[in-house]
Amino acid sequence: MYWDRENETLPREKLQILQLEKLQLTIERVYRNVPYYRAKFTEMGIKPSSIRSLEDMRRLPFTTKQDLRDNYPFGLFAVPMSDVVRVHASSGTTGKPTVVGYTKNDINIWAELIARSLVCAGGTKFDVVQNAYGYGLFTGGLGLHYGAERLGAAVVPISGGNTQRQLMLMQDFGATILTCTPSYALYLAEEGQKMGLDFKKLPLKAGIFGAEPWSERMRRQLEEKLDLTALDIYGLSEIMGPGVAMECPAKEGMHIFEDHFIPEIIDPDTGEVLPPGEEGELVITTITKEAFPLIRYRTRDITRLNPEPCPCGRTHVRIRRITGRSDDMLIIRGVNVFPSQVESVLLEFGETEPHYLLVVDRKGSLDQLEIWVEVAEQFFSDKVRQLEELEHRLQDRIQSVLGISARVKLVEPNTIPRSEGKAKRVVDRREI
Ligand code: ADP
Ligand code: ZN
Repeated sequence: MYWDRENETLPREKLQILQLEKLQLTIERVYRNVPYYRAKFTEMGIKPSSIRSLEDMRRLPFTTKQDLRDNYPFGLFAVPMSDVVRVHASSGTTGKPTVVGYTKNDINIWAELIARSLVCAGGTKFDVVQNAYGYGLFTGGLGLHYGAERLGAAVVPISGGNTQRQLMLMQDFGATILTCTPSYALYLAEEGQKMGLDFKKLPLKAGIFGAEPWSERMRRQLEEKLDLTALDIYGLSEIMGPGVAMECPAKEGMHIFEDHFIPEIIDPDTGEVLPPGEEGELVITTITKEAFPLIRYRTRDITRLNPEPCPCGRTHVRIRRITGRSDDMLIIRGVNVFPSQVESVLLEFGETEPHYLLVVDRKGSLDQLEIWVEVAEQFFSDKVRQLEELEHRLQDRIQSVLGISARVKLVEPNTIPRSEGKAKRVVDRREI
């Protein structure tokens, strides 16, 4: 079953011709409309006419999250604001978020790609989609929402959290497809079990889980506990949001929608393009986006491409499960967290030293973040109340900057191990 049979099963030669055409148009558009790209191309001696084949792409510069930050908020938009109909944002490495924009047509394509993804999971207009991805500046909630409507399914825009109510409405409304992060799905399963809910008696048939790394072990748990087919969905707000790639029932990787995105795998250290099948960092070029086209965006996500034909008949190349990152970004309860964000908060407080450790663990299915931080010598007192008060102030500030709650644990000066090379800031004890 396909949503858009023609484009999803396009023979590869045709697909490549189409990609080149769209790539050339994109290059022209950014050259004309985005001063940043024009300057960068000029510096490298590249003109739009220099790109004559897909291989020529390798001459184009990479774009990084830092470039996005330098052009905050709208500097990389390729259309006037009057053509932008929506913005989203995700957490940046320090205070400022990464901002992305969409034209009407961008939103339209996004809805199409999510409709494709839902159909990949067996979705039809008869389905009831319980959308427990967060709504708001995050792309998850609204991204899935518009695609489910496009399919003609009935969306329950419940957003994340409020677990008891989720479970009640899941039964009452007869949800057939659940969309959320895999860890939240597991939490729903566990809480449901506690309430005596028998998922085998519910009409749930598929789960579309993404926005954070998970594993085959988690897939087995989710499928067994929730009695559904659990599939992986990949995306990032810079490129669009969820629906950049979607797993099909073959369950061997996610088809990246190549009529809109061109994937490459590079060596994260040298920037060299790696041959098909090798593991490295995923780089994506958007070829149909209007408001916020990105050229060779370094996702920092580690994966590999599988160009083998897929039994499902889709011709788009598959990416394997994301197994890690080439930077230090953590995903905690679906939220992106950079150690540098924590550091910048600590620096605001004179009472602490920039010696800290992030300890991440998963209790049951919920991620927990503990921040150990040294108190400055002169502020270290045995007045428990003063220290507790400082912990609370730090916790509040962390919550407002990172968008997630953390437990701050103050420790005595000089107790966090120093390292001689790169400081070790993170202990990740999660087993996923
Ligand atoms: P989202 O709102 O979807 O979380 P962000 O832009 O905030 O989007 O975060 C994108 C990052 O989330 C990706 O670069 C990747 O590291 C991670 N991510 C998204 N989907 C998956 C997935 N299916 N598996 C592993 N990691 C994922
Ligand atoms: Zn397939």
